[in-house]
Amino acid sequence: MSSHAPAATTERFLDEAQRFSAHNYKPLPVVLERGDGVWVWDVEGRKYLDMLAAYSALNQGHRHPRILEAARAQMERLTLTSRAFHNDRMGAFLRRLCDVTGFEKALPMNTGAEAVETAIKMVRKWGYQVKGVPEGRAEIIVCSNNFHGRTTTIVGFSSEAQYREGFGPFTPGFVEVAYGDAAAFEAALTDHTVGFLVEPIQGEGGVVVPPEGYLGCTREMCRERGVAFMADEIQTGLGRTGRMFCCDWEDVRPDVLIVGKALGGGVYPVSAALADAEFMDVFHPGDHGSTFGGNPLGAAVGHASLDVIVDEGLVERSARLGAWFMDQLRGIDSPHVKEVRGRGLMIGVEIHAASGPARPFCEALQDRGILAKETHHQVIRFAPPLVIEREDLAWALEHVRQVLA
Ligand SMILES: *Cc1c(COP(=O)(O)O)cnc(C)c1O
Repeated sequence: MSSHAPAATTERFLDEAQRFSAHNYKPLPVVLERGDGVWVWDVEGRKYLDMLAAYSALNQGHRHPRILEAARAQMERLTLTSRAFHNDRMGAFLRRLCDVTGFEKALPMNTGAEAVETAIKMVRKWGYQVKGVPEGRAEIIVCSNNFHGRTTTIVGFSSEAQYREGFGPFTPGFVEVAYGDAAAFEAALTDHTVGFLVEPIQGEGGVVVPPEGYLGCTREMCRERGVAFMADEIQTGLGRTGRMFCCDWEDVRPDVLIVGKALGGGVYPVSAALADAEFMDVFHPGDHGSTFGGNPLGAAVGHASLDVIVDEGLVERSARLGAWFMDQLRGIDSPHVKEVRGRGLMIGVEIHAASGPARPFCEALQDRGILAKETHHQVIRFAPPLVIEREDLAWALEHVRQVLA
């Protein structure tokens, strides 16, 4: 496969990062300096198709003109107030977000992990105050192979040994069950269960699609037992899977919806937890907050990011192009491919263990001008910006075909 001795200019940047940055990532050896739509350019002047889209934070593509214009205009007026004062942007943004998601209220944060933490706090407090669980006994059911972020509470309920190792002691009150197994979920329910936190498709876990009916079935069990169904749609939401939200595939309406990534349009971190008043009203002044959450710049960017997804029909586009691309990938005759899976433009190609890890395949794609990143060792993830054209996907497909041959 590829030899990978980076060119001299690239090498300088890699050395600098090696020296001054914590070594908490292992990026592909490409140094990007410019982006436009689905394309990025490196410091050597080489052009690549971005098939990762910042883990779905770039659903609208790089530097979408409408989102940049909203950011620019807002920067000329007001950027940050803190929540000590009102600003004239947050309300309209949250109204639009509630409108798009169908929830009564939203709590704005910045990163995905913060929005997950917000949902956990909301559901725990709801459990004590509304459901009547004895203080300190609330349980939240989570899934094996989950990814919900990197805070100490969140990694505490990860089943990935490396995410936890050396970072304890951890927050108690989380119960792990097998992903995709509704019977296991039912067996784990107790009178102290307040919530079920689930990704409708596991992204970092390797693009794992649960069995048909799983979301609907667990949603119903939650309703019967008075448990809050919490959907982490930070990666799957906002069009990625060919529906506005992945839960829509099973007509599931969660009690708490968690969004992030593409809500910031690839420009600025914007996240939120959404719920109806029954849940959201457990929060009183002082219970929770964030200095930057709901700031006018983030609100302007978030508002424009939502508008672009709706106005440009990106959800429908993801469904149409994703179905076509997945079909084509499944048609590739390769000894290395174990499975092709996903929904919309969230697609994983699992490589047989006997063929080695997915990383060298990603490096070979990089040599051909396609940036994709392996997840969970064996899976190549294809998740380009949703603004991609069919002809660009067709171009990528030819290279994927050759690399997998
Ligand atoms: C990326 C991601 C998160 C964490 O988001 P950050 O912005 O990195 O904190 C949480 N849940 C899911 C499903 C994600 O994909």
